[in-house]
Amino acid sequence: MKVLKFGGTSVGSSDNIKKVLDILKGYQDEGTKFAVVYSAVGGMTNKLIAMSEKAADKDESYQQDLKAFEDAHYAIIRTLIPVQKQSSVLAHVKGEINDLEDILQGAFMVNELSKRTLDFILSHGERLNAYIISQAAQEYGINAQYLDARTVVKTDSHYGSAKIDFALTNENIKNHFANLDGVAFITGFIASDEEGVTTTLGRGGSDYTAAIFAAALDAEETEIWTDVDGVMTADPRKVKNAFSLAAISYSEAMEMSHFGAKVIYPPTLQPVFTKKIPIRIRNTFNPSFPGTFISDKSGEPNKMRVKGISSVNDVSLVSVQGSGMIGVTGISARLFACLANNHINIILITQASSEHSITFAVAPGEGIIAKAVIEEEFQFEIEAKRIDRVKVIQELSVVAIIGENMMKTPGIAGKMFSALGKNGINVAAIAQGSSELNVSAVVPKSDISKALNALHDSFFLSDFRTLNIFMIGPGLIGATLLQQIADQNEYLHSNKNLNIRVVAVANSRKMVFDENGIDLSDWKSALENGEDGMSFEGFVMKMKALNLPNSVFVDNTSNKEIADYYQRILESSISIVTPNKIANSGTYERYNALKQATFRHGSKFLYETNVGAGLPVIRVLQDLMDSGDEIISIEGVLSGSLSYIFNSYDGTTSFKDVVLQAKDAGFTEPDPRDDLNGMDVARKILILARESGLALEPDAIKVENILPQSCIDAPTVDAFFEELEKAESVFKGILDDANGKKLCFIATLDKGEVTVGLRAVAADHPFNSLSGSDNMISYTTKRYEQNPLVIKGPGAGAEVTAAGVFADIIFLSNN
Ligand code: ADP
Ligand code: ASP
Ligand code: MG
Repeated sequence: MKVLKFGGTSVGSSDNIKKVLDILKGYQDEGTKFAVVYSAVGGMTNKLIAMSEKAADKDESYQQDLKAFEDAHYAIIRTLIPVQKQSSVLAHVKGEINDLEDILQGAFMVNELSKRTLDFILSHGERLNAYIISQAAQEYGINAQYLDARTVVKTDSHYGSAKIDFALTNENIKNHFANLDGVAFITGFIASDEEGVTTTLGRGGSDYTAAIFAAALDAEETEIWTDVDGVMTADPRKVKNAFSLAAISYSEAMEMSHFGAKVIYPPTLQPVFTKKIPIRIRNTFNPSFPGTFISDKSGEPNKMRVKGISSVNDVSLVSVQGSGMIGVTGISARLFACLANNHINIILITQASSEHSITFAVAPGEGIIAKAVIEEEFQFEIEAKRIDRVKVIQELSVVAIIGENMMKTPGIAGKMFSALGKNGINVAAIAQGSSELNVSAVVPKSDISKALNALHDSFFLSDFRTLNIFMIGPGLIGATLLQQIADQNEYLHSNKNLNIRVVAVANSRKMVFDENGIDLSDWKSALENGEDGMSFEGFVMKMKALNLPNSVFVDNTSNKEIADYYQRILESSISIVTPNKIANSGTYERYNALKQATFRHGSKFLYETNVGAGLPVIRVLQDLMDSGDEIISIEGVLSGSLSYIFNSYDGTTSFKDVVLQAKDAGFTEPDPRDDLNGMDVARKILILARESGLALEPDAIKVENILPQSCIDAPTVDAFFEELEKAESVFKGILDDANGKKLCFIATLDKGEVTVGLRAVAADHPFNSLSGSDNMISYTTKRYEQNPLVIKGPGAGAEVTAAGVFADIIFLSNN
């Protein structure tokens, strides 16, 4: 004998009910004996509660809700029951609805609703549903016998969540089944007290009904059929990567359900646990899937130490503290007794080992009540200032990791708190059950989804990470980067266990967000068709509001304003990757503030492409510094544009034509003076100087100007080229003075002095070998004193710069 239970999620429509009947027919055909428990049609219990409250509030619109309730059931009857039988079924249902109408009208008249009345009203959900399905099943060739559980399941009179009288109930069930011919179709959730008055077993209680019947009948198994593939590693509605567990123990299931996994109602486990009857959680919409097997064994003991991650979404934290609590016996006994006397349920407790404080979590509505009753109980101690006023913090959630095999495994809690910390989630309290079945943390409610996802990825996909990318500036570099990500994602997925999900893209006009990831083959039209106008403020706010774990902001602009947001972004524990030099080359105070923000908030700020495009210039310097080396001097050709220009200028073509060619080839800024004025190189060497430990301000950089004043003053780019043509003799002079040596635009850091200017280098100088738009950086350090460390390669171009940004993003995933 099996006891099956189908939840509201399985019977939301006549199509779904047909799926249920197919499953039952399958069992019947294979000769399995079974009884079936049903809850109300999905959502109906909530609707019944809402209409009752309206009626008791003198809100006449409860009548429309009742009508909708009635129509929903009629619709199911009309599609499920053959016409010739419909009228008798409709008549039965109409009779029940009339009773319901009377009682609601009563609540309306007296302007009140007792828990007892509410239980009776709610019983209609399960009664109508189980009855209708039993009638439909008969047409399917199943000898279904409707059983109103109130006739057998007996409870006390604690309406809303009544306690079972097991002795009486078990006997009633056995007697009923001894005389039963056919298959029992049983109402879940409802029962009756000694007087025969309707009671209910608590929200979600149909699961419990199934377990009660299974235990009474010594069933071989209980199957709970719902809308997911079993008990999953986390609530699939909150954690997209959740997957179903093949097997877990009763204790693990109990712990998961206590901590918010709605998939099983917690009391369910007790009757079947006593008799060691296994439970299987199965999916009505995927019936060939085996689901989760719950028994006294924890499956796969060595493979998975943590089985699940659950949350209680809304709690308040109450703290009682004071010097008078230290060493005084009986304080906690009095505290918890007074809470128990006031029916306040404690979700989690922590006590500091100094005994100076006790903190506990309760349901949100109970925080203020707890404060009042505790302050009353300890009135004397509070007046004597031995205990402080009770503090209540609201808007919190509890997140818990659960698993039997966490026991005696060091490092689990460490992993948990490091995952929370890395994502900037502040932990207000911590508790570990003495059974070590669960470790719980109280976190801000606004961070709960991020906490669940971050913990899930870290425990279940430990080698697998998803980075959520928010990118602004899909210009040449940005578009190339998106293409590189699209081309490489498959490889990263299978070889590096890394998933790069581009969640947002914005240009100067528009922005588009998609939490599931923008389709990179079509991001342009997604952006064009996006409804949101772009503003930096709006973009940053939305990125923060999404609060996704492992968020990375990628700034591919050279915009000044956006750099003002960096600090806020880093302080929100969102990392930044950017080729934009503005933030690092402004005031030293800002440069330093960004570094500090990363330390305090666990975020990273990566800007390898600020200098030398994709060449590993900054990371090498940081590694040298971190490993204790000291910089003696830095010399570098840091501008791809200027390299190109001076490598091409040999006097055969005019300087103006060389610059024009460079511009046309896309090697210079739209106004080439932005390169020729040396400012860009100055910014780069300033960043390197800072990385090498110097607290320099921008004005400490000496930039030697190479342009005649007339060129600088020219009002337009065209006018600039005219002036440049006139100034050919100046450049020819410089070339002649070089006397066969090579002209290089060089940045130098030496003895704390930073200069930028044009130099002529001899044949034996390493820079003499430079060609095209190459960059070259040479670090002379304590370790590399005789022979400097030299890095050379292309220092400009969208491909290499985008690749550098991409490398920074991947670097984030490894650190
Ligand atoms: P039913 O109506 O079948 O009783 P419930 O809504 O009560 O269904 O429970 C099933 C739901 O529980 C799932 O749809 C899922 O969203 C939720 N749930 C929460 N935590 C978990 C978890 N760890 N595993 C599976 N489902 C979970
Ligand atoms: N219908 C009841 C509820 O919604 C019982 C159940 O679904 O198990 O709480
Ligand atoms: Mg349920």
